[in-house]
Order: sequence, then structure tokens, then C-alpha cells
Amino acid sequence: MIARKGPNTEPSLFDLPSPEPATRPTRLGLTVIDYKQASSILTVPKGFMQGYDFTINPYSGCAFGCAYCYAAAFAPDETLSKDWGTWVRVKDNALDLLRRVKRDLRGKSIYISSVTDPYQPIERSLELTRSLLQELVHHQPRVIIQTRSPIVARDIDVLQQFEFAQVNMTVTTDDEDVRKAFEPGCPSNAQRLQAISEVQRAKVRACITMTPLLPVVNPETFADALLATGVTRFIVQPFHTKKGMFAAGTRDTATPLIDKYKWDGEGYAAARDVLRRKLNTKHTGLGEGKGGFAPV
Ligand code: SF4
Repeated sequence: MIARKGPNTEPSLFDLPSPEPATRPTRLGLTVIDYKQASSILTVPKGFMQGYDFTINPYSGCAFGCAYCYAAAFAPDETLSKDWGTWVRVKDNALDLLRRVKRDLRGKSIYISSVTDPYQPIERSLELTRSLLQELVHHQPRVIIQTRSPIVARDIDVLQQFEFAQVNMTVTTDDEDVRKAFEPGCPSNAQRLQAISEVQRAKVRACITMTPLLPVVNPETFADALLATGVTRFIVQPFHTKKGMFAAGTRDTATPLIDKYKWDGEGYAAARDVLRRKLNTKHTGLGEGKGGFAPV
């Protein structure tokens, strides 16, 4: 059993009213949005994602601002790294860059996204990720979407046009207080489970990633709730602990929270064992760590 704190009644950034489509907001809640020209849009990944041919990050920065986010280590400078979650840079020319790509992308694996959430709140009005997917459909790469946002369900119609498209929805805990502590700007667990269930029902490949697995109150009922979505693919991993040239570790803001919730290796292993038993069956599969993320 984990220690509980009082309920967090702050509204999530995700629940704020969205700007009208086709507008170019410079602020969304407390998040400052700006628009930049990027030099490239396809990146050859290193480290954890190196099994993929390319990554695409339509945005730099992420309004979800998860306490543990390793992507903060890749922010353009130290101040932006420290202020992770308060700013987003839109890659304004992302679609032009993609249209100019000459290489044959058919069958290549593209992970969207490695250092931002492609369906963070600003995507609802800008539809930048959607436009990139619409372009990619013509080339038929294997696309893997990684998100914590139900906005992805809006693009099911585009995802259905790929020969291979998979949506990985991250759900890290069964407890909303834990979710609010570690992922204050993110949609609720219920919203995410509902969205991935919708993706699954639309016959787009769906996967639930517990990455990283946060403190859970009851791993048995957590697993039951995940299975109730109809999804059959799952991935679990602990926090990144090693920092290296291409492998950033857990953000420092998560450390006091990990201590507060007494979430140590033992707690993780106990919960993971239950998840293994319930999610790794004849009909469902549980991948773990880097191997679990490898392209299929
Ligand atoms: S949603 Fe992903 S990229 Fe955004 S802050 Fe959370 S972990 Fe980082």
C-alpha cells in the first residue's frame, strides 16, 4: 500500500479550453508557445530508441511537464531544462521538411515521439502531428505513436490508413493522486484508458506502456483495468536510472516524490511480478524495458 496525500484539485492543463483550430496561440494556460524553424524532422535515434530507423518530434518541450521526464535533459539550454513543462516550441516548418525528404520511407520504423508528446494540448488546435501523419501515409513507414493524451483518438481515421501503425498509450499508475503528483499536466488515467480502448476498437494496434511504472495501490485491480480496455500488448519498465551521453536519467524533480511514496526497487519488482502473471498470458503479452520497446 502506498502513502496517500490530499486530493489535488488543480485543473489539469489538458482540461483547459482549447484555442480555435487554425489559430497560433502564444500561450496555453501557463505554457508559453513559440514557433521556430527546425533544421530537420527525421532523426536517427541513439541509445534507448536505437532499434528504430527514425524518430519524429513535431514539438520541442512538452506542456505535460512530468516530474520524471528524461527528455528535459535534451532541452536547448539549462534554463529551459529547469523550466521543463512551461514552454513548447512548435517546429513550424515540420511538414515542409517532411515533404522534402527524398529517402524511401516504406517499411522504415518511425517513433513519434522520443522527446516530446506529439498529442500534448497545443496539438488539438495546431494539428501538426496529424498533418505529418497524413503526409507519411503516402510513404507507408511503420509508425509507432507514443503519448499520454486522448487527443490521439482524433486521428484514428489517419492511423487506419497505414499498413502498420501502433499507438502506445502511457498509463503509469492506478492512483490519481500519484498521477497528479508525478504528471500534473497530463490527462487523467481514465481519459487515457478510454482513448486507448477506442483505438483498439477501431482496429488500430494498441499498446499500454507503464513507462515508468509509478507507485500502484493494487497491482491486481490495475491489471484488470488495463485488460478491460481490450488491449493485449503491454510494456513495463522502472525509472531510467543511468545517465550517460545518450541515456538521460530521471529528472531530479521526481526524486523527492519517489522517496515520499517509498517507491523502491522492491516495490517495483513486487508490482511487476503481479503484472507479469496477469498480463503475460496466452492471449496477451508484457514486454519489459528496452526489449519491450524494440520495433516489431
Ligand atoms: S509526456 Fe513525455 S515528453 Fe512530455 S513531459 Fe511527460 S514524459 Fe516528458
